[in-house]
Amino acid sequence: MIEVDERGVVEFTQALVRIPSTNDPARGRTERPAAELVEARMREWGWDPVVSEAAAGRPNVVAVVEGGGGDGPTLMFEGHTDVVTEGDLSTWTVDPFGGEIRDGRLWGRGSADMKSGLAATLYATRALQLAGPFPGRIKVCALADEEGLMIGAHHFVASGLADGVDGAIVAEPEAGEICAVAKGALRLRVDLTGKMAHGAMPQHGRNPVQAVGTLLVALRGLQRELQERHPAHEHLGEVYVTPTVLRAGSEEQVNVIPATASVFVDVRTIPGLEHKVVADRVAALAAAEDGIEASVSVLVDRPPVDVPVTDPVVAALAAAHRTVTGEEPVYGGVPGSTDGTVLTHWGGVPSVVYGPGGKWIAHQADEYVEVAEIVRCTKVFAEAARRFLHRDF
Ligand SMILES: [Zn+2]
Repeated sequence: MIEVDERGVVEFTQALVRIPSTNDPARGRTERPAAELVEARMREWGWDPVVSEAAAGRPNVVAVVEGGGGDGPTLMFEGHTDVVTEGDLSTWTVDPFGGEIRDGRLWGRGSADMKSGLAATLYATRALQLAGPFPGRIKVCALADEEGLMIGAHHFVASGLADGVDGAIVAEPEAGEICAVAKGALRLRVDLTGKMAHGAMPQHGRNPVQAVGTLLVALRGLQRELQERHPAHEHLGEVYVTPTVLRAGSEEQVNVIPATASVFVDVRTIPGLEHKVVADRVAALAAAEDGIEASVSVLVDRPPVDVPVTDPVVAALAAAHRTVTGEEPVYGGVPGSTDGTVLTHWGGVPSVVYGPGGKWIAHQADEYVEVAEIVRCTKVFAEAARRFLHRDF
C-alpha cells in the first residue's frame, strides 16, 4: 500500500476548516483564502498550479502532476473550496471555524463537505508522486462555488480543462459509498398571465390564481405518471415533481384579481428521464386553462449522472477500496448534484463520487468528520490513482 502523510492530511484539513470560505461578499468572505492555501501547499511540493477566476474573488486552482512514467491516462481529482454558511451559531456546540479535534472527530463547517475530501485528494496525489514514477498524470482541482451555481466547474469545462481527462473522482462526503449515479435537478418557473379585474366584476377579468390551482393538481398527476413510467432507481429512489413557491396578488388588494401568477417547481429526476420531456409536459399542463397564457422558464438544469460501475474510474476506486479497507465496496447514489454532474454532462468526463464524512452531516450544525476516515480515504485515493493510471483494476 502507498504510504500517506497521515498527520499532514489531518492538519491541512484543520487549516482549511479554519478559513470561513462561505460565499458572502457582504461579510468579506469568498473561497479565495482557502484557494490560496491550496495553491501554497501545491507550490511547496513543487507543483505548478494555475489559478483562474470563475468570478471576481472566486478562483479555481488546478495543478497537473505528471507521473514521469510514460504514456498513460489522465485522472482528475476534484474538490470544492466553498462551504455553506454556518447558520445560527446558537445551534453549534463547537466553533464552526475552529477545526477542533475531539473524540476522534474533526469538527467544523466544511469538515465533511468537503475540506477533508479536498485535503485527501492533494495528499493522495503527493503520496503517489513520492512513491515513484507513474504513467499518465493527475489533475488536482480545487474549484469554486459548488454550493451555488457551480460556476467553478462550469468555468473549468468552458476553459477546455476537462478535455483529455479520462475519469474524475469527486471527493464529496458519501460515507464510504461509491456513487457513480446522481439524481438530476430541474427547476422551473411557470408564469401564468390573465387579465386584471375588480373582485366585484370577475366576469371582466381572467384569473391566473384559479389556473394555479388547476396546475398544482395536474403536477401531482404528472408526478404519479412519471413515477409509474420510471420505477424507483435502486440508489436514487423516485422521480419527484414538487411545487415549492407560489406568487400572486397582494394582501393589500384582496378585492383585485391579479394579472399574473407564478409557480416554481423543483423536479428531481433519475437516469432515463429527459429533462426536456418534463419541461414540455409542464408547459402543456400550464397552458390548459382557457384564457390564460403560460410560459415556462428553466432556472436550473442538472441532468442525472449514470456512469456504469464497469467504467475504469469506478472499477479502480472499487478495487482500491477493497485493498485498503479489506471490505467489499458499497455502491450508492448522490441525492443531489455535485460538480461531477457538470464534469460528466458538459465535460464528457466519467465521474464517481466518494469521500470522507457522512452523507447527511453536510450543511448541518456540528458538522464533523472522523479523523480515521480522512486517513483511510487518502489511502484509498492514492491506491485508486495508482490502479487507474496503471490500468490495474
Ligand atoms: Zn460538497
